[in-house]
Amino acid sequence: MHLKRLVVLAIVIITAYACKEDNTAEIEYKKELAEIVEEEKILEFGFDLNHYEFKRDTIKKGDTFGVILERNNVGYPQIYQIAEKAKDTFDIRKLQAGKPYTLLYDKANKEDSIQKPTTFIYQKSLEDYVVINFKDSIQAYTSKKPITYIEKTATGVIESSISKTLEDKGLSQALAYKMADDIYAWTIDFRRLQKGDRFKVIYTDKYIDDTIYGGVHNVKAAYFEHNGDSLYAFEFETDSVKGIIDYFNEDAKNLRRAFLKAPVKFSRISSRYNLRRRIAVYGYKVRPHKGTDFAAPINTPIMATANGTVTESRRRGGNGKYVKIRHNDTYSTQYLHMSKQAVKKGQFVKQGDIIGYVGMTGNTGGPHVCYRFWKNGRQVDPFKQKLPEAKPISDSLKVKYLEHIAPIKQRLDDIFFFEAEPIETENTITQDPIL
Ligand SMILES: [Zn+2]
Repeated sequence: MHLKRLVVLAIVIITAYACKEDNTAEIEYKKELAEIVEEEKILEFGFDLNHYEFKRDTIKKGDTFGVILERNNVGYPQIYQIAEKAKDTFDIRKLQAGKPYTLLYDKANKEDSIQKPTTFIYQKSLEDYVVINFKDSIQAYTSKKPITYIEKTATGVIESSISKTLEDKGLSQALAYKMADDIYAWTIDFRRLQKGDRFKVIYTDKYIDDTIYGGVHNVKAAYFEHNGDSLYAFEFETDSVKGIIDYFNEDAKNLRRAFLKAPVKFSRISSRYNLRRRIAVYGYKVRPHKGTDFAAPINTPIMATANGTVTESRRRGGNGKYVKIRHNDTYSTQYLHMSKQAVKKGQFVKQGDIIGYVGMTGNTGGPHVCYRFWKNGRQVDPFKQKLPEAKPISDSLKVKYLEHIAPIKQRLDDIFFFEAEPIETENTITQDPIL
């Protein structure tokens, strides 16, 4: 973009200068200018592609570095040399089908009957690429495309689900995942959002080469009104050495809890903890349900809701295949009716680790996981517990944190909710939302 402006500026200056010259000189200049205008720089991978012939393609199944170069007239002894030299930077055996690559050819070679590339560029990801240059000597290096971050704000009011609200507003679903999985997983049950719940969010979108959308980079701050509660979340790095980033509320409380709200993602609670449950098939006798059932399709991964050690992983009677995890002196959790377990007794698991898969083993009418929450050896309702907070912010960091969030919170508070997008017509006066 800037380049274009530079070129235009160059034309103006040179034209003004040309006026002082005689006519032939002016024509000469104009011819040159025409060429300048045509030659807008195409900068990519650190090369001005105007100076090269280039060929873009994607790695096909069965393609190897050797096959590609051989197809492009590079002989085997040289291919071998290139592979050897490049080895420390990039293992050429790691080319993946479907990934793009570019071959550069020197323009001077254009008239040669056999064109040979001088550079091979492989794009490992949208951002990362490897350059293998073999024009004279062989050089290989990795590099990144220029990335631009653009901070944005968004608001939404829930009608049915957060996905639907984002979709209606043309916003990335990644925002929903960030909020549901990273930020509010412990404080809001996203399967039970209510109509009228609403949110504001300040986030950063990533763009590669200025134009390619690279997704949501991070959420800097969020505000969620759920069930009448106001829940603020601010991103903060608590350990710059380990790069630990967490979300805290306006009082510097960690939003993470020692336990996840659910052992399966995007499931539905089909039966809650209920000590006075009566079931028709049992003649309406009281059959207490000491677990919470999460219905989900067969083989949906089941996650450990907190760090701990597996104390049981087996099959028994009505429980079917199940796993029990001891978290500390106070808490254990248990997950029943699995199709199969993914952990063994004695194994240490972290919060969110997959410990098994949803099934129908044991006494069950449909695929679900019966989640049992043990406190001091008794089964309790996890939704009625005040669960312990994850690692709190240190006292020394708290002052810094509160200073850091003050202006961000102000910005969040200044964002206005639009219940519906305002429609601008000639007759409507759109009221200033700030007034
Ligand atoms: Zn159950």
